[in-house]
Amino acid sequence: MNYSLREKLIRYIDAGFPIIYINSFEESKVDEVIKYAISGREIVEWNGFNGYVDFITKASIIENCSLRDTLKVFKNNSELNRKVLVLKDISPFIKNANIISYIKGIAQNINEGLDANIIIVSTSVYIPSELEKYITVLEMDYLKTPEIEKIILKFIKDNSLQSISTSLLEEMSVAFKGLSQFEINNILALGYADDGELTHKDLSLIFEQKQQIIKKAGILEMIPLKEDIGDIGGLENLKVWLKRKAMVFKNLVKARQFGVDMPRGVLIAGVPGCGKSLSAKAAAKLLRFPLLRLDVGRLIGKYVGESERNMRKAIALAEAISPCVLWVDELEKVFAGIGGADEVAARLIENFLIWMHGKESPTFVVATANDITKLPPELLRKGNFDEIFYVGLPSEEERKNIFRIHIARRRKNDLGSIDIDKLISKTQGYSGADIEEIVKESIETVFVEGKNELTTEDILRVIEKSHSLSEIMKEPLEKMSREYENRKFKNASKL
Ligand code: ADP
Repeated sequence: MNYSLREKLIRYIDAGFPIIYINSFEESKVDEVIKYAISGREIVEWNGFNGYVDFITKASIIENCSLRDTLKVFKNNSELNRKVLVLKDISPFIKNANIISYIKGIAQNINEGLDANIIIVSTSVYIPSELEKYITVLEMDYLKTPEIEKIILKFIKDNSLQSISTSLLEEMSVAFKGLSQFEINNILALGYADDGELTHKDLSLIFEQKQQIIKKAGILEMIPLKEDIGDIGGLENLKVWLKRKAMVFKNLVKARQFGVDMPRGVLIAGVPGCGKSLSAKAAAKLLRFPLLRLDVGRLIGKYVGESERNMRKAIALAEAISPCVLWVDELEKVFAGIGGADEVAARLIENFLIWMHGKESPTFVVATANDITKLPPELLRKGNFDEIFYVGLPSEEERKNIFRIHIARRRKNDLGSIDIDKLISKTQGYSGADIEEIVKESIETVFVEGKNELTTEDILRVIEKSHSLSEIMKEPLEKMSREYENRKFKNASKL
């Protein structure tokens, strides 16, 4: 069952949970939820700006009262009976031993029967280990598309604007997902102030705002989309597969009615520098979804439970932003980063898979990995991802395409006179990234030497001096390709 934040808060307050920690950057919305969840109890608040205040009126109860002194009031007597104490802006103090022991004291009193609760509202989650067993973390829930539609329509009515088309209303509501009511109204006001109406142009305002939110949350990064599917040399099987999924997403309602399953995602694994990241970016462009990169390194936290919380936060954010592509880059780092704490890694992956199996939102996962030998077999089992592709070193035909793409991008006019076949015979065992480097270096050399045309010989000279990836990584590459063959992954390239 999926309860809303308000429902959960009511249950937790009534059940006497001592400390409820609400992780949100929307204080005013959280205030609304708390107001309706406290079942007749009195609410008092401490915040960094006004000190100890009445929650509703924000009027001072004790002038200039520090957090420590406020907590002291509640520790020593029954002052807190049938009250809810809301704490805001406490992150600078929550590592202080004195503060921790005061909060702990109150929490113990609540556990022993005092009818009260502490609610901490914060934009980030930090839980001192001494308080862990008293704290329950709740996340803010996001607005659903019909609720957003209502907000837009109300804005149009309140400002007597010209009505907008159904398709723009739909597009805007999807784009607004992940934003608060306050933010939505602000953007609508901005869009309206601009030219007196709401138009398609205003969608870019929404996009900018979302980028801000993602930045604030810290675990996901919004990647600008440049490369498209035509920028990938080779990997034909993968490209065909991605185009199929794009077709499903483009006609999602019809496809779902027809009985097509919601696409879950793909794992692209294999040799470094051969186009895995490039494919993740091109997939987002093809689907016309924003691309959110999950930094696996940043996910792994030092404190107990922190990694799981970060994972939950990343998933909630991706769901709120959806439709989107969630790119889990270097998946194997989940296991490397934890330094032997396999249990945490296993739990993280398990949570991730449970979410991926049950998800109904159009969040398309693209996971990439360089080294599958570090991944547990259960992750690679069929049915977790819609498909697992192996990306190997590029074939002759693929190298041809990769050379063409990178030369055309920089020296389009020289492309016709270059003998690509000659380059191919000298670049067996080179990766796509190696080829790009060769092209870049050749062009720079030609420029520095004062010549005005790039020739086959210039490129061959750079190849002579270079080393291929398969030279540098001979053994690991052989081991990897045996591994992929054993596991019978689909080859991303057409053989
Ligand atoms: P990885 O497989 O390690 O994720 P990337 O996709 O990041 O490798 O490749 C690095 C760069 O090398 C790309 O940005 C691109 O410029 C170039 N490259 C690699 N493979 C290809 C390819 N198949 N086609 C075109 N360029 C490629």
